[in-house]
Amino acid sequence: MSGLKPRPWINELDVYVGGKSHTIGVEKSVKLSSNESALGSSPKAVEAYHAEATSLHRYPDASYHDLREALAEKYDIEASQIVCGVGSDEILKLACRAYLAPGDEVIFPKHSFMMYPIAATSFGGIAVEVDDTDYTANVDNILAALTDRTRIIFLANPNNPTGTYISAAEVERLWQNIPDNVLLVLDGAYADFVVAEDYQAGIELVKKSSNVLMARTFSKLYGLAALRLGWGYACPEVARILDSIRDPFNVPSVTQVAGVAAVKDVDFEKKARAHNIQWLNYLRTELISMGLDPIPSVANFILIRFPSAQGATAEAANDFLLKRGYILRWLPGQGLGDCLRLTVGTEEQNRAVIQLLKEFMGQ
Ligand SMILES: *Cc1c(COP(=O)(O)O)cnc(C)c1O
Repeated sequence: MSGLKPRPWINELDVYVGGKSHTIGVEKSVKLSSNESALGSSPKAVEAYHAEATSLHRYPDASYHDLREALAEKYDIEASQIVCGVGSDEILKLACRAYLAPGDEVIFPKHSFMMYPIAATSFGGIAVEVDDTDYTANVDNILAALTDRTRIIFLANPNNPTGTYISAAEVERLWQNIPDNVLLVLDGAYADFVVAEDYQAGIELVKKSSNVLMARTFSKLYGLAALRLGWGYACPEVARILDSIRDPFNVPSVTQVAGVAAVKDVDFEKKARAHNIQWLNYLRTELISMGLDPIPSVANFILIRFPSAQGATAEAANDFLLKRGYILRWLPGQGLGDCLRLTVGTEEQNRAVIQLLKEFMGQ
């Protein structure tokens, strides 16, 4: 035992366990466990990345001017109100670091993103999980949990791992009813996939507020998970605070140029969205027809409930698929022991996983 004593709240943290990326005893595995892009990355982003590799001796642009400009133009927002991070995970953590003192409370819905309690706890915050309804965030439950110590509300919209979303009107109602010393963090990691007309990622709300932070990522639709690029958008004051506490060179140059190319590659974006809509629909229809219960999803994954009555449990299905090289995500730690989360894959992968599930279900 060393005599070193980490801060008490840090001592309680566990190491983050991501989706499995290989299976034992199977030559080639298919990873559908981490909501990665089915179509790979934008070819233009990859090209930009390679071109930048000739300048690895240079420090990156600490203000990532081009990346901010590209995002500002695409979304019609102010470049100065954008903060970039090492994945949107960094944006979430910057929010906690900036606004939490030990003992402050952070509210988030049940069955939501695992990083919220981790981010909150790592800065001494108290994680306050509130009940959801039908695997969907419940605004009234969030509001009921507000106390004098509440400083941050995390809302993944669409939510991971359930794939559900709440409407722009519901998000607005939530914001209307929180005090202005509470930061509402709208995590739009899957916003790029959503086509529902009553959905908004949060840009309109940020424009009229002083306590909303929208977080976005290049890891999902843009297929740049390996480069770790995320960004946040908030009012000038919040953006300035987050900018002032990040590391000066947090986003590498290769990541910056790939991000700029990805933002401008509208063709890839459209293709990825269309692919997702088509195959999400296929998966849902097939899953229902084999007697499983998929939760309605607007993201690039689908949470499948296994009816326990038939003895075909999620755990058994997970083992069955792993033995055949298919990696899905079983999440008993998040109270979802009866579910598997399946990321939308390529046509071939989607058809194959459905075939295997049918076999598992005895069909
Ligand atoms: C994947 C994911 C993120 C962030 O991913 P980064 O790779 O860190 O940008 C954030 N929120 C949710 C809900 C996610 O599923």
